[in-house]
Amino acid sequence: MQQAEQAEQTEEAVEAEQATLRQRATVGGPDPFTTAQRQFDRAADFLNLDPAVRLILRNVQRILQVDFPVHMDDGSIQIYKGYRVQHNLHRGPTKGGIRYHPAVTLEEVKALAMWMTWKCAIFNLPFGGAKGGVVVDPSQLSKDELENLTRRFTTEISLIIGPESDIPAPDVGTNAETMAWMMDTYSMHKGYSVPAVVTGKPVSIGGSEGRTEATGRGVMIVTLEALKHLEIDQSKATVAVQGFGNVGANSARLLADQGLKVVAVSDVSGGVYNPQGLNIPDTLRYVQEHGNLRGLPQAKPISNDELLELPVTVLVPAALENQLTDQNAEKVRAKVIVEGANGPTTPEADEILNRNGVFVVPDILANAGGVTVSYFEWVQDLQHFFWSEDEINERLHRIMRNSFQRVLQTKLSHDVDMRLAAYIVAVRTVSDATNARSIYP
Ligand code: NAD
Repeated sequence: MQQAEQAEQTEEAVEAEQATLRQRATVGGPDPFTTAQRQFDRAADFLNLDPAVRLILRNVQRILQVDFPVHMDDGSIQIYKGYRVQHNLHRGPTKGGIRYHPAVTLEEVKALAMWMTWKCAIFNLPFGGAKGGVVVDPSQLSKDELENLTRRFTTEISLIIGPESDIPAPDVGTNAETMAWMMDTYSMHKGYSVPAVVTGKPVSIGGSEGRTEATGRGVMIVTLEALKHLEIDQSKATVAVQGFGNVGANSARLLADQGLKVVAVSDVSGGVYNPQGLNIPDTLRYVQEHGNLRGLPQAKPISNDELLELPVTVLVPAALENQLTDQNAEKVRAKVIVEGANGPTTPEADEILNRNGVFVVPDILANAGGVTVSYFEWVQDLQHFFWSEDEINERLHRIMRNSFQRVLQTKLSHDVDMRLAAYIVAVRTVSDATNARSIYP
């Protein structure tokens, strides 16, 4: 009885914190698409981009908004709102994840789609950027309801997705299971299996080895590259990770495997801190058993805000947008920030961090390990020929290191920050494609 009461109280507390966090995510920072356009404008100014090309690239090409019914367990029907946005189609089919989160907005999906375009360009992947989202809190739905929602949403957006046109993948609130439902729904409509329509699927239906942890692996690789460049001994480096989902948890685990000391991690329920270092495999097991990090033994509870201000070598924001703002950037004590999340830093915070000499590895470089292995998965599906995990990881290492070096050399030769350098590389690549194709008709 006592245990049941305790569990109920914990659940209530988590729900209360989730509500606060949801509110912060919706009301908290600037509109992400404005941020994305401001970041793009800096590169467009630097490159003295042709005005017509600038106009094309600073807007998204296609938006599909859908309001669709879902059968709920109690027999009722609920209407959900979803989006699929394609930012740019000049370099190939579009690619980008599907987000299930209560704070999803069209402006957020537009920003995420634009960021995907730049990411694919830096890594020379033959894709344009896209993103999708449904306004839903997946933790409030049963598995059947989630499957119903996913299958109906897939049907709605199958107008524009497809292995040759637009290929979704997991993002916040979605995973390999979601991708399996999407792949199956699309295939049922076609009458045959179409594994290449989504990436991030289970290996049993054409997924790629190494895809689940690819984004975290990429974060680990660029973190080590950044430390090497800054001549910081990785065996003495400490790390704090915000967000303990796919990206955050895998980043923490792989960085710890490399001998870095992960002292703090957090999720939607709050953070945990141990200056002596957390045992990441134990922490993963704890989260599997308890659902979140709250109450982790041998660690001090801290808030998500406190985590961002810890005296660590490396800070990895791996949750949502607008976490580092003009309100807290001045208090950041990390030497290096590696953006596992998309859009965690506002332009105002960027200025403060640059002024304070913090080395920021921007999202469009740092978290591209996921889309890179998604590209490998798509290629394997199209060729019906699969690679080993070692092959995947070796190719990922090579591409991550080369892209980091390309951006770093651009930074050093133009004396700009890493974000602007990444945008210079990306915008140049995409505008070359736009110019080559010219404007039709
Ligand atoms: P996820 O759903 O697996 O995990 C998200 C984590 O963030 C969870 O631990 C959740 O509890 C936590 N969280 C949610 N809201 C929070 C808040 N307000 N404060 C603190 N923690 C919060 O999602 P993910 O796939 O790990 O994605 C995380 C970020 O990485 C997103 O910005 C996403 O766009 C980006 N990203 C993901 C991938 C990928 O392959 N999954 C690739 C590139 C970038």
